[in-house]
Amino acid sequence: MDGRIKRRIGVLAIQGAFREHRKVLEELGAQVVEVRSKEDLPDLQGLIIPGGESTAIGKQLELDGFGDRIIEMANQGIPIFGTCAGMILLSKEIDKSQQYTLKLMDTLVKRNAFGRQIASFEADIPVKGLQGDVRAVFIRAPYVMETGSQVETLGEYAGKIVFVRQKNILACAFHPELTPDSKVHEYFLQMI
Ligand code: GLN
Repeated sequence: MDGRIKRRIGVLAIQGAFREHRKVLEELGAQVVEVRSKEDLPDLQGLIIPGGESTAIGKQLELDGFGDRIIEMANQGIPIFGTCAGMILLSKEIDKSQQYTLKLMDTLVKRNAFGRQIASFEADIPVKGLQGDVRAVFIRAPYVMETGSQVETLGEYAGKIVFVRQKNILACAFHPELTPDSKVHEYFLQMI
């Protein structure tokens, strides 16, 4: 990574695990902006939508053209990375739900998809383009049920799609910010 030019990355800070993303990005040398309204969006070179509660985050995005402004950024080619609830918020369709989403990825996503008994768990999974397995922390995680032709699957767990990319949009079902391994965030920064 070029250390002379600091990347200016936004982390949506409405609710959920935004502080942990901030820490990882700062350790990788990025300048981090906590994004709480559309006024925080100009001049960002990337945006992370963290895990949390997708309906609560979506309600805020629905207001005041906040989500529309993020959609414009995505259409301009600015990389956006959604983790867990963030993956839900990026998806075009959610199984059995009409909740607000940004519809930036041609995917059908199922929420809380791994069942009650194994609601939260960790696994080491291979991810396309990354060296060595990624420690994936799943917390009431979604998975991707269907993908459109533009969507590339980067990772699976137990036969379920959990990591996808569609051009400048990246999404994973787990929490890469909760482990000391920063290679998923490095991958995202390399998209910029
Ligand atoms: N189950 C949450 C939702 O549906 C996502 C959980 C998470 O982000 N860890 O929004």
